[in-house]
Amino acid sequence: MRKIFTCIAIIFLAVMIVYGIFFSFDKKDIKQKPAVVSQSSSNQNKAEDSDHPKNFPNVHSTDWNLQLVNSDNAVSDQEIDLEIIQGNLQLDARIINATQKLLEAAEKANVSLQIISAYRTISYQEQLVQKEIYQNIAKGMTKAEAEQQTYRLLSKPGHSEHHLGLAIDVVDQAYYRQYGGQLLPEEVATSKGAIWLKENAANFGFILRYPQGKEKITKIQYEAWHYRYVGEEVAKYLIQNGLTLEEFHEKLKQLKMLA
Ligand SMILES: [Zn+2]
Repeated sequence: MRKIFTCIAIIFLAVMIVYGIFFSFDKKDIKQKPAVVSQSSSNQNKAEDSDHPKNFPNVHSTDWNLQLVNSDNAVSDQEIDLEIIQGNLQLDARIINATQKLLEAAEKANVSLQIISAYRTISYQEQLVQKEIYQNIAKGMTKAEAEQQTYRLLSKPGHSEHHLGLAIDVVDQAYYRQYGGQLLPEEVATSKGAIWLKENAANFGFILRYPQGKEKITKIQYEAWHYRYVGEEVAKYLIQNGLTLEEFHEKLKQLKMLA
C-alpha cells in the first residue's frame, strides 16, 4: 500500500516538475514577445526623434491624401469613388464628411460658403483652359501671352488637383452673389469667407494650396479660393511651418534618404 502511495507521490511530483518547466517556458515566451515589441518600437521612436523634425507627421508620400499634382506631376490613371456635394458637384467620397464639417463650422461662424468648383475631368479642364485663352486673346493679347496668362491661374489638363476630387474652389456666398463664378484674386482674398477659411480650414484637413509668396514653388499665382484636402495632421503641420505641399514632399524625400 505504502509503495503505491510512494509511486503516486513520485508520479505527482514528476508531473509537477515537468509542468513547472513548461509553464515557466510559456511565461518566458509571453514575457519576451511584448519585450521585443516594446524594444523595437522604442528604437523606432528614437529613430524618429533623431531623424524627424519635431511633430513631423507620421505619413508616407504615397498616401492617397498627399498625392502631388502640379505642373511637373500629372495625375495618375486611377478610379475615384466620387460622391455628390452641394447639389451637382462631386468630390472623392473620402473627403465628403470633412468638407461638410467645414461648411457647417463656417455656417456656425456666420460665414456661408459656396463651393464653385470641385472634381473636374481632364476634358472639362481642357475646355476651361481654351475658354480662358480665347478670352485673353479677345482682350488683345497674343496667343503666347494669352496662354502664359492662362496657366498662371489654370493648370494644364491632367495637371490639376481638381482631377483628384481632393480640391475645392470655395468663396463666401456674399461674394458669389456679387461676382458669380468669376474669381477675382483681390476681391476673394479680402472677403469674409476667405479670411475665415485661412484661419480654420486646417482643422478640417484643408490647406490653402497656392499661398501668397510661394508662387515660385507652386508655379500658380496666389489663389485665396483653392483649398486642397491633405488630412488634419498634415494640414496643421503645413500651416504651422509655412510649407506648401511641394515643400512637404521634399521633406518626406529627405527623411526617407536619412532613414
Ligand atoms: Zn481650384
